[in-house]
This record gives sequence, structure tokens and C-alpha cells, in this order.
Amino acid sequence: EADREPAGEVRERGFVRVRGAREHNLKDVDVDVPRDALVVFSGVSGSGKSSLAFGTIYAEAQRRYLESVSPYARRLIDQAGVPAVDSIDGLPPAVALQQQRGTPSTRSSVGSVTTLSSLLRMLYSRVGHYPPGQAMLYAEDFSPNTPQGACPQCHGQGRVYDATEASMVPDDALTIREGAIAAWPPAWHGQNLRDILVSLGHDVDKPWHALPRKLRDWILFTDETPRVPVYPGFTPKETRDAKRSRMEPAYMGTFTSARNYVLHTFGTTQSALMKKRVSRYMVSTACPACQGKRLKPEALSVTFAGRDIGELSQLPIEEAARILRPAAEGRLEDVTPAGSTLSRSASREARDRRVARGGASHDAAPDVRLTSPVSEEKRIAAQRLAHDLLARMQTLVELGLGYLSLDRSTPTLSPGELQRLRLATQLGSQLFGVIYVLDEPSAGLHPSDAEALLAALQRLKASGNSVYVVEHDLSLMRRADWLVDVGPAAGERGGRVLYSGPPAGLAAVEESQTRRHLFDEVPLPRREPRSPRSWLKLEAVTRNNLQGLDAAFPVGCLTAVTGVSGSGKSTLVTRALLELVAQHLGSDLPDGEEEADELMDPSARDGTWSGRLAGDTGAIRRLVQVDQKPIGRTPRSNLATYTGLFDSVRKLFAATPAARKRRYDPGRFSFNVAKGRCETCEGEGFVSVELLFMPSVYAPCPTCHGSRYNAQTLEIRWNGKTIAEVLGMTVEEAVDFFAEEPAVLRPLQVLQDIGLGYLRLGQPATELSGGEAQRIKLATELQRTHRGDTLYVLDEPTTGLHASDVDRLMVQLQRLADEGNTVVVVEHEMRVVAQSDWVIDMGPGAGEQGGKIVAQGMPEEVAKVKGSRTGPYLAEELK
Ligand code: ADP
Ligand code: ADP
Ligand code: ZN
Ligand code: ZN
Repeated sequence: EADREPAGEVRERGFVRVRGAREHNLKDVDVDVPRDALVVFSGVSGSGKSSLAFGTIYAEAQRRYLESVSPYARRLIDQAGVPAVDSIDGLPPAVALQQQRGTPSTRSSVGSVTTLSSLLRMLYSRVGHYPPGQAMLYAEDFSPNTPQGACPQCHGQGRVYDATEASMVPDDALTIREGAIAAWPPAWHGQNLRDILVSLGHDVDKPWHALPRKLRDWILFTDETPRVPVYPGFTPKETRDAKRSRMEPAYMGTFTSARNYVLHTFGTTQSALMKKRVSRYMVSTACPACQGKRLKPEALSVTFAGRDIGELSQLPIEEAARILRPAAEGRLEDVTPAGSTLSRSASREARDRRVARGGASHDAAPDVRLTSPVSEEKRIAAQRLAHDLLARMQTLVELGLGYLSLDRSTPTLSPGELQRLRLATQLGSQLFGVIYVLDEPSAGLHPSDAEALLAALQRLKASGNSVYVVEHDLSLMRRADWLVDVGPAAGERGGRVLYSGPPAGLAAVEESQTRRHLFDEVPLPRREPRSPRSWLKLEAVTRNNLQGLDAAFPVGCLTAVTGVSGSGKSTLVTRALLELVAQHLGSDLPDGEEEADELMDPSARDGTWSGRLAGDTGAIRRLVQVDQKPIGRTPRSNLATYTGLFDSVRKLFAATPAARKRRYDPGRFSFNVAKGRCETCEGEGFVSVELLFMPSVYAPCPTCHGSRYNAQTLEIRWNGKTIAEVLGMTVEEAVDFFAEEPAVLRPLQVLQDIGLGYLRLGQPATELSGGEAQRIKLATELQRTHRGDTLYVLDEPTTGLHASDVDRLMVQLQRLADEGNTVVVVEHEMRVVAQSDWVIDMGPGAGEQGGKIVAQGMPEEVAKVKGSRTGPYLAEELK
């Protein structure tokens, strides 16, 4: 297309011209990137794609925007550093759709992120069917997040929490003394409650189930708080005697029922650990007043197409769209005598529409006979709103997200799903003339959904925008208008633009690693398939969209679980399998901290579920989840601290003669300890500047200039380098520098093998991508001694990986399986699936249309299964 553009002025205007880009590893890059085109930035991980697309082009657009807004912001931007680039011409405003690194902090839902909920509220407010006598409601009355809309019983939570006998007494064969009431507080406090029961004359040595029902209920649920003398350690008989003889008690104790203890602690404790502990003894049920719909009764009395707004929000979007279609086509069936309220509603509509969106006009051309008398105005309003809703829902369906419901909370979505939600929202926003910069939009997407993604990107372009994507997906590269290939390798050995032009032209660029995979068939490594030692089974799993599913995973093999987005892969693997195995091993989930967060926000939990673990459970002694969650939430954790190699490095520094003379211990060389770190920034290396109305900005620390340490600490050198300089090294440089130090070298070597040689040792956890974090976890695991009895679970480990990096990752995963471990990956990358020993293909569709195993077997077998959406793509890869 670019070829067809006329020379001269138009051509001048048609390109973003970058000159002298030097951000991160970029090597004084000059490149012209076409506007109004779909451009893919390709290259191995760490080559500098993001540094160019996000760090330079997007950052500069953002800087110009901020500069135009306020001189105050300008000063802050200067402190935070402007992108290192000589000039960029022809740069329109830019919008970034980056994948969230880490968990999103705000609690929102699919409906709120996409603004569909606010449209839906208007629809109900304006044209809903009101029961007789019900006054008309404002749009806010339909929002559970406003005081006027929330269900008064559950305060808009949708669920109520309680503790029951079953939840507090898991084993009723135990006596109270043996700990029947698991929900009781631990240690002294629990013994106190038991002693009080003894003082009250109750039998604490009978099995729980043998106690009278009335007593059991009283112990668990009473609101009474009797105060009695306590004789700790006395038998029931001794206690009776002591009371009779009016012996002086050790103290007076107050009884609290187990439920009151649990609910009170959950509601008031400051300790995350306590909160997590008591939450285990609580059950949540849908609020009886609103049935989990979170709204007050008046709001739920209003219906549209026979459903209240809560019901519509709980449906998969695909189905909600079907319900709205008749109204969108002008076929509104309604019997509301709305005439009297219409003028009021019209002005409200105007106001609400202004609030919700830019206020586009829709031309409704009704040519439909009405089934029942509805005022013309109302029908047109309904048509307009429903039409708008439908168009936006359709976009979500096209992007493969039709299985989500509007009330689904965003923390339960994967980063890829969230990005596609935002993409869909942009498609409805009617912006034009901007550059959209996206980060691997294909993440989490089955190859059969990639068409729709491409169509969505084309639509953004067609409405007059430029679409720049950082992407590894080869099919998307082939279909792009333009390719900017960065490389040839990562870090220092990358940072050049190897090619910029229409995709076909890359074929001539010898040094590009992308070229090999895009144009040459890189053969799959030959390998003997492993045969399973035994099987680890899941039985009757009912959870999310799985209905009594049985599944079997071969022990000692590499298994790939495939299927379209929403088919139930994560539910099966990172939920059911992981949790059942953790339960079986008696361990908490591997990621304790994250789990605590989830438990404290019960809305993030996916309700009740069931399932059993069976088969050769004895073969698994250890469980490791290698996920994409950050390795730390603050810049205080980094690659070196996480892998543990920094401990060895600090010992080396403490052992130098200069350090010994000053009595510096290894702690002195930690930037997390007061002794050795810079006091201004407390070892952070930078200070944060709070901005009004904007995210805070980080600026280098004025005292240590980012080195994190105080001057005395930096006087100590090991082989000529300070501790700060070591943190500034890449893994690759460090491999040479520590060549004689096996304790440091071993973890470094693994990091390099896995393709992370370009990362700096001190690179803060917050700067790492999800894929990088995942590979660091994997590397940390690989340097451990192996026993062959571990189950490894990985969710889409190839996210963020170039095709050539995928092969390196596979080498490591195969190594784990060679050592006898069981590896289960959820994966879309057919190159990985083809190299697995076993494939479980979920589907056939998403949500309610999925949740079944469509095919399972060796890759060659699954490739032949008719009705499997994965089959054809796998067959293509195996050719
Ligand atoms: P890609 O997008 O191709 O994976 P990046 O642009 O993210 O690569 O990274 C290119 C190089 O810049 C890498 O060596 C990486 O370690 C480095 N880098 C990335 N982000 C930062 C940062 N915030 N500060 C310093 N170096 C960085
Ligand atoms: P996949 O991993 O194949 O993309 P998931 O297992 O994430 O699929 O989802 C399967 C189904 O379960 C989908 O309909 C999805 O919307 C639903 N689901 C997944 N997680 C949750 C959750 N936390 N709460 C409610 N529904 C969920
Ligand atoms: Zn309620
Ligand atoms: Zn400092």
C-alpha cells in the first residue's frame, strides 16, 4: 500500500519519522513508520521492540500531550526523563493498550470497563417496563455501586457471608478437646474457650456429633456471652469440685460463639493472616434479598424484554446481545403506558448520555410494525440505545469474548482478555487520527480467534487510525501492512532496526531471526515421545463451565491443554488441578500472598465447586506453579534478589579485605537494610513525585543518582566493581564477571540458557513483563536439585516470546520432564503443542458451549480429530 502512495507532500505526512532513538538498548535508530497502517514491531524478546514502540513513539506522544496541558507537568516530565530521541516528526496523539503488569488494583467489572453497564442502565431507566405504581428511576438507581442503587441488605455486594456448622466443624467425629471446632482461634485463646465450656459443665470429651443439637447450636451460634470462673488445665471433675468449694479461679473468662468470633475477626482484624485464616470457616451465599444481583428491589422490578438488569448482566454477552436484538431492530414489545413520564425522561436521557459517552447520534430508521402499543418516542429511544449496546457487544463477541458476562469482575480475567476488552471499547469510541500502540494482543487467543482480532485491528485502521502492535504471532505479521523488525539479538546485541517495510521484503534480511520463522520452515526438534508412568486423574470436576468433567494427566510427561479462549483450560488446570493437588499435599497454594488477596476480596472467588483427585497421586510430592504474576510488587525486589544469587554476591563483597577491615557484613550490601543504603531514597534509587489527577512519576534520587547505596558502601569494590555496578550488569556480562564463582554462576547460567541474558541483575520486578517474570521463576526452579516428583503447572508460558525463544523454553520444559517430573501447560502456540507428549483439547466453544474434552491423545492423534478447533492448526504445525 505504501508503495502506491504518491511522492511529495502526502508521503511526507504519511510517516512517523523517528531520528536518533536511544532509549534503553536502541542504537541511535532512524526509522520511518507509516501512518494509517497496521504495523507490527517484531524481534526476539529483549531486542528493543517495546523500547521503540512504547518507550519512544508512545512516550514522546504522551510527553507532548502533557506538555500542552500544564507547565507544572512539564517540569515533572523533565525530572522523570524524556525519551532519548533526537526528533520525531509526523507524530499524532497516541493511545496505549498495554497489558496490565500484575493484578489490576481497581475493582471493576466487564460492564464498567467497556461502559456497557452505563448504557444498559440508561436503557432500563428510560425504556424499561415499570410495574404499575413504580416511579421512574434514574440511571444511577440501577448501579449497585451507588448508595441509591445498592441492595440494602448486602450493600451491593451480592453475597452474604456466614459461618455454618459444616464450615466451622469439618470433622464431627472429633471431640471439642481434640479440636472439633476448627474455627476456634489457635493457641491460648482456643484453650480458653474450651476451659470456659468445662466451667459451664459441658462435655468436651464426647465426639461432636454425639452432643445434643441444642448445645451444638449454642456453642456455635449463640449471642450470649456468659462470664465464668476458669481453672485452666483442670479436668471437668476437678473444675466441678473447685467451683463447689469456691476455689479462687485463675481468671474470669468470657465466652463467645464460634460464629461471632469468625465474623467479628473477619470484619475487624488488621492482620491479613488472621483474616485469611477465619475466611476459611466462612461460606458465602447469594444475598437472599437480591439473589446476588446487588440491586435494590425497586430497580429489580424494572424489566426489559422480560428480564431485570441483574439477570441480563449475568448472562454471557453473546446471549444478552440476542435478547437486545429485536429492540435494536425496532421491534420493541412493551405495554408500558409511558406517556406521562416521557418528557422527564427525555431531559434525563440527554444528561446521562453526556455523562456516559461523547454523544454520537444514531439514525434510527424504523420500518417495523409494533406488536403492542408503545409510544413512538419510547420505541425510538429504545432502538437507539439497544442498537448502540448491540454494536458494542458484537465487537466483544467478534474478539472472542462473548462468553463473558457484564458482571464478571476484572480481577478474574486474564491480562489478554482485559486488553481485548479495552480494544473493543476503543473500537466503539470513534476516535480517529491517533496511533494505537498495543502489546501482544494475540496473548491468550486460540489461533482460530486470530482472524477476529485482525479484523478488529483493521477496523481501528479503517476509521482513520494507525495501529502499531508489538507482536510475536507469525500469522499477524504476515497480514500486517508493514513490519519493523528489531534485532538481531537481545539487549546490547539488539537495538537496531533490521528492516522496515512490507512483510515480504524481510525475506531478504539475512541476520533477522524473525525471517527464519516467517519464511523458512524451522523443523521441529526430533524427539522420542515419552510414555506415561501412570496417570494423575481428576474426577467429576464441577466448576465455572466444567460440569462433572473427568480428566487424566500422564505422570512424567509434558501435557499441553488447548482450546479457544473461555473453553475452560484455566479452570481445569490452574484452578481444579492446582487446588486439588495442593489440598492433597496439605500445602497452601504456591502463591500464598496472592491467594490471601483473593480471599479478602470474596468477589474474586468463583463460588462453590467440587471435584476429586484420583489415580497415582503418590507420584506427586511437590507442586510448583510457574505463572506470570510479578516476582514482586515493588522495585525493591529484582532479578538478583528473587533468584537468591544476590546473597552470594553480597557475601563476596563482605569477604573483601577492605570490607573486613571496616567490619561490613553481607547486610551492609543490601539496599533494603539501613546500614549501607542511600538514606534519601531508602535504597529505592529514585523518588516518587505525586501528581494531581495523574499517576505519580518516578525521578532518579538526587543524592545517589540511582545507585541506591551510600558513598561509604560504594567505596568497597570486588574485582574492581562496586555493588551498584554489579546490579547494573546484564546477566550475560555477569556470567563473564563471576566465571570463577560457582554459587553465583549457576543461577546466572540458567537465566542465560532460558533466554534472559539481556536482563540487568538489578532490573526491578516492576519493570519486568509477565513473560519475563514467568521465565525467571522457571529459571529459579531449574537451578534447584531435582527429584522427579514435582508437578509443574504453567499458563501460556510463550506469552511475550519470539518463535526462536519458544524453542529455548521448550528445551527447559523437556528437561524437567526428562527428570521424571510432570509438566502441564495451557498453551495456544502450536509449536509447543506439537512437541508435547500428550494433548487435552477443551471445547468445543467458550463458556457454556465449552467445558468438555473434545479430543485427547498424542499430538498426531489430536490433529486428526474432527470437530476439534485445535486439530487443523496442530496438523499444519506437524506437517
Ligand atoms: P522487547 O520489547 O523487544 O522484548 P524491550 O524494549 O522491552 O524489548 O527491551 C530492550 C532492552 O532494554 C532489554 O535489554 C531490556 O532489558 C532493556 N530495558 C527494558 N526496559 C528497561 C528499563 N525500564 N530500564 C532499563 N532498561 C530497560
Ligand atoms: P480458558 O482458560 O480456556 O480461557 P477459563 O477456564 O478461564 O477458560 O473460563 C471458562 C469459563 O469459566 C468461561 O465461561 C469463563 O467466563 C468462566 N470463568 C472463569 N473464571 C471465572 C471466575 N473467576 N468467575 C466466574 N466465571 C469464571
Ligand atoms: Zn442483596
Ligand atoms: Zn538515593
